[in-house]
This record gives sequence, C-alpha cells and structure tokens, in this order.
Amino acid sequence: MIGATLSDLHPELSAQCPTCRLHELVVVPLRKGADGNWVQTDQKRWFRRPAPEDTEAQRVQIDACPVCFGAWFDPGELDTLAGALEGVEKVLEPARGVSARGCVHGHGPMNEHELPGVISTPVERCATCGGLWLDGNERRKLAAASTSEGQGTKTERWFKRGAIWAAQVLTHLPVEVDNPARGTPWMVFLALAVFVGIFAGQQLELIDTEYYGIIPGRLKIEHDYWTLATYMFLHGSWAHLLGNAYFLYTFGDNIEHLFGRVRFAIFFVVTGIIAGAVHVWLTKKTATPIVGASGSIAGVLAAYLWAFPRQRLFQVILWIQLKIPVWAYLIVWVGFHILMGFWGKGTGAEGVAWFAHLGGFLVGIAVAPLMLKLRRREVARSVRVPALP
Ligand SMILES: [Zn+2]
Ligand SMILES: [Zn+2]
Repeated sequence: MIGATLSDLHPELSAQCPTCRLHELVVVPLRKGADGNWVQTDQKRWFRRPAPEDTEAQRVQIDACPVCFGAWFDPGELDTLAGALEGVEKVLEPARGVSARGCVHGHGPMNEHELPGVISTPVERCATCGGLWLDGNERRKLAAASTSEGQGTKTERWFKRGAIWAAQVLTHLPVEVDNPARGTPWMVFLALAVFVGIFAGQQLELIDTEYYGIIPGRLKIEHDYWTLATYMFLHGSWAHLLGNAYFLYTFGDNIEHLFGRVRFAIFFVVTGIIAGAVHVWLTKKTATPIVGASGSIAGVLAAYLWAFPRQRLFQVILWIQLKIPVWAYLIVWVGFHILMGFWGKGTGAEGVAWFAHLGGFLVGIAVAPLMLKLRRREVARSVRVPALP
C-alpha cells in the first residue's frame, strides 16, 4: 500500500501463511532507497545508507511470510507497486481451478490463475475480495521472466512489462534474503557462551578434555554413558570451535525461532547424544576421543533444509553481497570437516567423527518434520485466519 503510514494500515491481517503455514503474515514496511532498491525500515543494518527525502510515495508495506517469502497483495496493491503500468491484475487469465490455499481474510479457498507466458505455476486469487497471493518461488520466477520479454499477443507483452516492473519491486524486497529469524536466539547465544567458556577451561587445563569427551572403547568397557551428554560442549581447537560457532549462529537462530526455545535446546542436546551413540556404535577408532557440537549442528542443518528448502542466505564477503543457496553451505560444512579431519590439530580432530555427523543429520531429518507440524498447529491457533489444512 503506497502512501500509507504505519498508523493507517489496511485492515489488520492476522493470518497464517497459506503456503508454508509456519508463520503468521507480518507487515513489512519498506522505503525506497536512493539506489532505487527497497529497504526494510524495521531492520537493523550494519551499513546504513543515508535516508533520502522520505516522501509518501517512497513508502510501501506488504504482508509477507518471513519463512517462505510468499506475499499477499490486497486488491490494487500490485498495480500500485507496478507504478505507471496499471492494470497488471486485469491481465490474469480466468480462474483455472480451485486452489488448496485459502484467502488470508478468511474467504475460503482461492482460485488458481495462469500468468500466460510468464510463469508456469498458477498464482492464487480470492474471488471474494480480489486479493492476490504470490509464493516466494513465484516471485523468483517473475524475476527470471523479466530477463527476456519475448513474443506474444499484445496483452501478453503488455502484461509482461507490468510483471517485469512488479518483479523488480518484488525481487528487490530485502525480505527475500534477510534472515527470517525474529527475536533474540537466546539458546544459540547460551550455547555459544558455554562453548567459549568451556574451551577456555580446557586451555587453562581446568577441564580435562579426555575425561569429558567420548572414548568409544572406554565407554564400552567402563559404561561412562554420561560422556554422551558432555562431549558436545568441548572442542578440539580454536578452528573447531569457531567453525562450529559460525554454523550454529547462521542456522541455529532460525531453527530456534521455528521450534521454540525449550524444544530447540532439547533437540540440540538429544541430537548430540544420539550422534555420539551412533559414532560409538559404528567407529573402528575406539581409542580416539571425540568432542564438539558438530553432531548437533548436523541435526540443525538437516532441520534447516526441511524448513527452508529454497532459502538462499545473505552473505557479505569483502563488502560484496552474495546470495548463497543452502546446499552450498552444506558443501562448505562438509569441506570444513574434511579439513579439520586431515589437518586440524587437537583432541577431537585426529579423525573426523563422520558417524557422529551422520547420526546427527539423520536425527534432524527425522525429528524436524514433527517439530514443524507442532509449529504449524500453534500458528493456526494463534491467528484469526488459520490456513486451510
Ligand atoms: Zn510461508
Ligand atoms: Zn478474500
């Protein structure tokens, strides 16, 4: 809605995301920056550019899902975003069928409409209120379509031009790549603090790494099963600690947000315990002690893949902003552990605890869908308009 201020919002939405159902829709206030890109005005940024003249016309707010980046447009909003090229919405093909997704105003199932020559998947529109729902990936496809205008009927070409403009607005929305975590990830911070504190203790030789680590052979003979719960808080070297801290911080905050604090903490510890047990069960290096949170973090990574399969992460490397797909992070993560395994120094790195990582990953794959199911049920209960089941 262009020209609106935060106080005169369109009818207050309280709706579950009709696509992923993992979050309620949130108002995303945007302001057009000097470079023509839209900037999310309610987010802290490290490199804040000076705000240009803040006129009414340079402000927009949309209702979007911070998990899957789907966005809702009340009647006229997409047209308004498309600026001079009005009438984009009128070019929609007649309804092709009934969608499984419901209107966020509670008008029941929406209709599927084709966007001829632009994207292959239909977009959803409510027949009652005329609102339009675009999935996160549909927004990307709109952007991809904007690279070539192609041929077609006059209507199609004209629509495409509108779509291109809309796509430029949509794909410049920072919600696309911003970290969807909201609120402070206290459990992640707590874990990081504990890791650092304990590693300092190890360095000062106040904490005996071998005693608290898992030694598979010793565990089988002495039955010191409690080490399954302690090994994950110790680390073998600074590189080991920093690597794990980085991955936990990058992925853990989103998963903590989706799971909830207590469940996340339980998930983290239980995944670590099972990962350690899998290692003890399968490894042949029974005399090598293992330490580190990698097993738990593998579980967090697996959960992240379940929750954000299409997510790309926003990464600033040497002041260049890159969008990096999650699978690339997985490769980096595996590479990091190979490096640690062959060249890392320290107790935990004499052989990578591959089996522990594998165990953690499998726990994540198995448990995350259940956690997400719980989350969907909770979101449905907390909003006025729950998504269709
Ligand atoms: Zn969603
Ligand atoms: Zn409706």
